[in-house]
Amino acid sequence: MNLKKFSESPEVITILGQKPGSTLAIMVGVHGNEKIGPMVLNKLRGLRLASGKLHLIVANPTALEQSARYINVNLNRRFDSGVNEYPEDRLARNIQTYLDSSDALLDIHSYNETMDRPFIIGELNELPLMAKMPVSIASTGWDEFEQGASDYYMHKRGKIGLCLECGSSDRPKQYIELALRCVNVFLAEYGLTKHSAHLPTTVPQKHIKVASVVHSDGNPTIFSANYSTFDELEPGIVFAQMGKRTFTANQGEHILFPRTNAKKGDEAFLIGNQII
Ligand SMILES: [Zn+2]
Repeated sequence: MNLKKFSESPEVITILGQKPGSTLAIMVGVHGNEKIGPMVLNKLRGLRLASGKLHLIVANPTALEQSARYINVNLNRRFDSGVNEYPEDRLARNIQTYLDSSDALLDIHSYNETMDRPFIIGELNELPLMAKMPVSIASTGWDEFEQGASDYYMHKRGKIGLCLECGSSDRPKQYIELALRCVNVFLAEYGLTKHSAHLPTTVPQKHIKVASVVHSDGNPTIFSANYSTFDELEPGIVFAQMGKRTFTANQGEHILFPRTNAKKGDEAFLIGNQII
C-alpha cells in the first residue's frame, strides 16, 4: 500500500577525518519507531575526526517518517539475502554499499518493552570491545537465530558489527548520553577520535549467549510472570505455556523478548544462558 512512496535509499552523511584511517558506519532508524538513533545522530553531525571516515546512516527514512517499526517487512532481516521481493530488499542493498566500504558498524536501536536494561549484541570476538562500553549486558549468539540483521551482515564478511539496544522505545531522550558514550568508545577504538573513551567502564558486564528460540505455533504464549528481556528464570519452574506445550527453566537461563501474541511462525521468546 505504501509501495510507491517508499524511499529505497538511506540518508547518509559522510564525515572525513584530517588524515586517512579506518572507515566506520553508525546506523540509526532501521526501525522507524525507535527515535533514540536519530537523536544521537543529530549530535554527531558536526563531529570532527582526527582520521578516517564515518558514514552516518539513517537506514529507513520512510519508516521513521511514519514512526513505524517497518512498512512492508522487517528491514533488519533483509541484509545479506539475494531476494528482491520488497522495497526493503532494495533499501538493504543500497545500505550494503556503505557497509561494504566500512570496517565496522555500530547500529543503534531501542526495543518495545517498558524496562531500562540496555544491552549490546555482538559475537565472541567482539566481547573485548563491548566490555569498554558502559552497558551491563553483552549478548552473543544472535547470528544463528536472526540472520539478515545488519550485524550478521558484517560478521559474515569478517568485520565488526555491533547492535546497541538502548532501552525502552518510549523514553528515547533517557538514553542519548549512554549511546554517545558507546559511540565515543567505538570511534576511539579505530582512532577516528582521540577521546579518552578508553577509560575502563565502571559498569560490570554480564555475558549472555542466545541458546534457543521458540516460535509461536499460533496459540498465545502464557508466561508465569510479567517477564522482561534478560530476566533470569527460576530453575525448575514452568515459565511459559503455548497450547499444550510447557517450558521449564534450567539453571542460568534468561528469557529474551517474551511475546504473548506472536503470530504463528514468529518468535514467541528466546532463551539465553549466562556465560561465566
Ligand atoms: Zn530495532
